[in-house]
Amino acid sequence: MNLILYNFFIYYQLKTKFKFLFLTKVLYSMKKHFFWVVLCLIFCGKTRLMAQKNTNKAIKCIYEEKMANQGLVNIQTIDPSILVELKYSTTDNFVGKDVYGCITNCFMQAKPAQMLAKASAILQQKQPRYRLLVYDGGRPLAIQKILWNALSQYPPHQRETYVANPVQKSIHNYGSAVDLTIATDKGEALDMGTKFDFFGQLAYPTHEDYFLKKGKLTAQQVANRRLLRDVMQAAGFMPIKYEWWHFNAVSRSQAKAMYKIIE
Ligand SMILES: [Zn+2]
Repeated sequence: MNLILYNFFIYYQLKTKFKFLFLTKVLYSMKKHFFWVVLCLIFCGKTRLMAQKNTNKAIKCIYEEKMANQGLVNIQTIDPSILVELKYSTTDNFVGKDVYGCITNCFMQAKPAQMLAKASAILQQKQPRYRLLVYDGGRPLAIQKILWNALSQYPPHQRETYVANPVQKSIHNYGSAVDLTIATDKGEALDMGTKFDFFGQLAYPTHEDYFLKKGKLTAQQVANRRLLRDVMQAAGFMPIKYEWWHFNAVSRSQAKAMYKIIE
């Protein structure tokens, strides 16, 4: 019996020793080929991400399908000259995250989309080398909640000047509002004095004269904003007080009466 136990003890010791030797060998080999191991990990990760992105592209976007089924239209099918760069589908937005995921096209209700095409035509009549560059259009209510929650550091009244309360709904949630700027035909955005989604008075259209006098906005920046407002208003859009980039095709009550919310 003692002999059996002794043999088992020796066997166990050898097994542990070999395991240790094996691990040491693996670690030594990893150290020796550290550069190649890291390179392989980066490459494998990148390949996986690219494959995932291609698959996402190949699969139709369920949110876009939903909007199309609700009667909204991809504005670039109405006017292919309109440029689209949905900021919430990138990380270049105030949340710092891609909150749109697969949504990369701008969908709007048919009538507002026609109005936008009209604004685009008016702009190109005035300035043939200029294009409308759309940052956002129809926006699902689920995303509205994410944007609202991302501004929890502001008191409610101030928060509502930046993002509509999802309880009240935004006109974007009805596919009847658009955020946009003017760009050259090469896609370079004109200087409007602030970035899109700049939270501060410098973005207020109502304060432009004041900031022009103060030297915080240049005459060219104000002229660029005015050009955007002129073409949008000529097409029937309404500007708002707090954001130079935002325009409504209808009022909130009209949107509620005419359209279904984008869930
Ligand atoms: Zn907006």
